[in-house]
Amino acid sequence: MGKGTQAKLFSEEYRVPHYSTGDMLRAAVAAHTHLGQKAGSFMNAGQLVPDDVMIGIIRDTLMSPEGSHGFILDGFPRTVTQAEALTKMFKDLGIADYRVVNIDLADEEIVRRLSNRLQCPSDGKIFNSDIDGVAPGDPCPVCGTALVQRADDTAETVRARLTVYHAKTSPVLGYYERLGRVVTVDGGGAIDEVHKLIEQRLRVLGMPS
Ligand code: AMP
Repeated sequence: MGKGTQAKLFSEEYRVPHYSTGDMLRAAVAAHTHLGQKAGSFMNAGQLVPDDVMIGIIRDTLMSPEGSHGFILDGFPRTVTQAEALTKMFKDLGIADYRVVNIDLADEEIVRRLSNRLQCPSDGKIFNSDIDGVAPGDPCPVCGTALVQRADDTAETVRARLTVYHAKTSPVLGYYERLGRVVTVDGGGAIDEVHKLIEQRLRVLGMPS
């Protein structure tokens, strides 16, 4: 929860690319590509897109020279199979120094926040109907495009995403904890509070050089 926002902030701060698998998949869905047609039904049902597809996407992404001085991965890996494949890719690419940030938030709070989340389809900015006082169809306060709820942010799909998270993604945390790579922060605060917490925790563990 909040991972995309934090990933974007760190990407700007460290001037490294932000690779969000969710954004890549949503762009493919919007462009009606072969990948988009395949991925859309999984996403709308709150399910994971198959591992082989996702591993292929990340393999191609990591080949890009753009990320040669570092990058932020957002939304990948989401299964232990993906994590194992990433370890192998890092080994092949000579990447030895990395951190995993775990933003912790109770399920009920996640359901509440995502059900109230609205997005601008034009600039991707996120708003909260409670905090920002906006409703679906209202103009984006920044660019005026009508705000929408993400297809997978309905309460029902969010619950499915949480079930998938506990079954398939939470073991990824154990995988990286055993490797001593994880910093965990409380995701309950405001955006800048969570950002500061992550910075502090990264400093304690030592920043990637
Ligand atoms: P996100 O924007 O990270 O919340 O991702 C939105 C949706 O895209 C997820 O609920 C999945 O359906 C799909 N997705 C994104 N990343 C992955 C991944 N690494 N593995 C499988 N599915 C993914």
